[in-house]
Amino acid sequence: MGWRRLFFLSVLVTVFSACAEWQDLPVQIYVDTRFSDLEQEGIADAVAEWNRQAGCRYAYGDVVLEIAGTVTDDFTERDYEDGVHVIYRISNPIEAEQYLQNVYGGADSTLGNATLADVILIMYNFDRFMIELEAEQCERSAQLGYDNQNLQASLDRFRFHFVRNLALHELGHLLGLLHHNDRPGVMNDDGLSFLSGSEFLTDADLDAFCLIYDCCCNRL
Ligand SMILES: [Zn+2]
Repeated sequence: MGWRRLFFLSVLVTVFSACAEWQDLPVQIYVDTRFSDLEQEGIADAVAEWNRQAGCRYAYGDVVLEIAGTVTDDFTERDYEDGVHVIYRISNPIEAEQYLQNVYGGADSTLGNATLADVILIMYNFDRFMIELEAEQCERSAQLGYDNQNLQASLDRFRFHFVRNLALHELGHLLGLLHHNDRPGVMNDDGLSFLSGSEFLTDADLDAFCLIYDCCCNRL
């Protein structure tokens, strides 16, 4: 490697280490009780995916995220940077706007956001979409003579995957990961995992994890 290349590499590494923010692992997470049981299952599955994939590379243990319990409070301004990591279910636009104003100075977001402090899943847009989808599917299944039990099961599955994959992406931000755009993955900015087809953490995501945290070996 020529000195010039080495120089540029060292500059790059310095920039990375100056920007990198990390958590003490495992991160203890509290889940908003306003999530339904099904949605909580989706979040638990996203946490399990991080532990399964990043946990087997992390040098100091198998667990990178841990669900420590639930919280019942609505999000308020005081909750940001209180040291407690919460996944909030934001159920109305005012609450979302308040959060985004406090944290980002008014960023525009429709599905979710996360910092090293907290995660918010903005569910009102999705709930509205689900109501429309349910009405449409009900009408269609009535026309086709399907029974509504199957319909409910498929809507439940859809909701589970939506919350799971949204949480999977936002938990990456909670861990300190930024978006990467060159390779497919959960943290790819082109689309969330459920839109881009990456339901599982990819090598690109895990490489991003290992830029921040010590990884020693793939224990798979
Ligand atoms: Zn993101």
